[in-house]
Amino acid sequence: MIYMLEDESGIRNFVLYALNNSGFEAVGFETPSEFYSAVAERIPDLVLLDIMLPEEDGISVLKKLRNDKITRKLPVILLTAKGTEFDKVTGLDSGADDYIAKPFGIMELISRIKALLRRSYYNDSDDTGAIVLKNIVVLPEKHEVYADGIKINLTLKEYELLLILLKNKGKVFSRDELLKEVWGFDFKGESRTVDVHIRTLRAKLGAGGELIETIRGVGYKIGD
Ligand code: CA
Repeated sequence: MIYMLEDESGIRNFVLYALNNSGFEAVGFETPSEFYSAVAERIPDLVLLDIMLPEEDGISVLKKLRNDKITRKLPVILLTAKGTEFDKVTGLDSGADDYIAKPFGIMELISRIKALLRRSYYNDSDDTGAIVLKNIVVLPEKHEVYADGIKINLTLKEYELLLILLKNKGKVFSRDELLKEVWGFDFKGESRTVDVHIRTLRAKLGAGGELIETIRGVGYKIGD
């Protein structure tokens, strides 16, 4: 979930529309007070923060986030019309993870968001035991899977298949082995079940789906 705090409705609606179309869940807020109420309800994965706002400016909002134990490490990208070096330094000094000057291209913003989400999962990996392979991140403790920074919903069996492949990077599993590991079946002949789940798993992983290799005549593996 991405929160965007931006008082200009034109920019806000445009960015939210683009993010939602790119597979992100994103919600916008016009004022800091609305934003704080939402954060109290649910901590987002990332915040897009405008600087010139009603009530208080974005730098002040950012400082409050950084001073709160719960939101201290929340990834924040500052958005501002004031694109001078001075503002950039101030923004980064106050604890922003990244900075983008208006007017910005939406594709650039999305690639910055993805990069920051990836970085933040890496940084969290000590706490969470995250398993990372290229653009795929699995947080086993939370049962969450991300591809290119976007959370994806897997069925339990798809999740278990991905997990066993990722925990054994480079190992080739036969269909029967996967059937036994994931489904607990100890008999041959149901290997189509594995193929069907691998297919849906690949589709859901998008570009990351290519990381699951079919080993002809044997089965599947992920990674080298
Ligand atoms: Ca503004």
